[in-house]
Amino acid sequence: MFAMRDLEQYAAECMKELDRLNIRYSKSISFVINTRAVTRLGLCKKLGSSYVIEISELLLDERTDLKRGLKTTVIHELLHTCRGCMKHTGKWAELAAKVNAAYGYNVTRVTRSDESIIPEEMRKPPRYIIRCSKCGAEIFRQKRSPAVTNPEKYRCSGCGGQLIRIK
Ligand SMILES: [Zn+2]
Ligand SMILES: [Zn+2]
Repeated sequence: MFAMRDLEQYAAECMKELDRLNIRYSKSISFVINTRAVTRLGLCKKLGSSYVIEISELLLDERTDLKRGLKTTVIHELLHTCRGCMKHTGKWAELAAKVNAAYGYNVTRVTRSDESIIPEEMRKPPRYIIRCSKCGAEIFRQKRSPAVTNPEKYRCSGCGGQLIRIK
């Protein structure tokens, strides 16, 4: 087993960074660790007047890049809890740019779970790889799915680019 990071500790650190920029995120957030093997690293759901932020367990593994992985993902999701920020445009994008400029993050619409964040040794080699020809995002699949069989019929969820199968 490898050492695991404390999600609450890093969430508090990220919140302090937003406080310093006077960014008002929600005061009612619960953090949940998502233990299912997922390609999605983070998720923010609104439940009534509070929010649930799910963070992939992968990012708590100390072998992953702390800043580009866990902290970038936490900041991305925290910004969704600001007023009028559920989408990745408008105010959310403005706040992301502000945080990036202040602390050198690279908070973008899609956090790529590439090798600079999650080292190769942590990955099961995927049987199939589909890549976006526009932004380079990669989708790994162990099973044959419609997207594996006919990638040209699907679009990248991040940028809308054309998908191609490379493995
Ligand atoms: Zn988002
Ligand atoms: Zn794309």
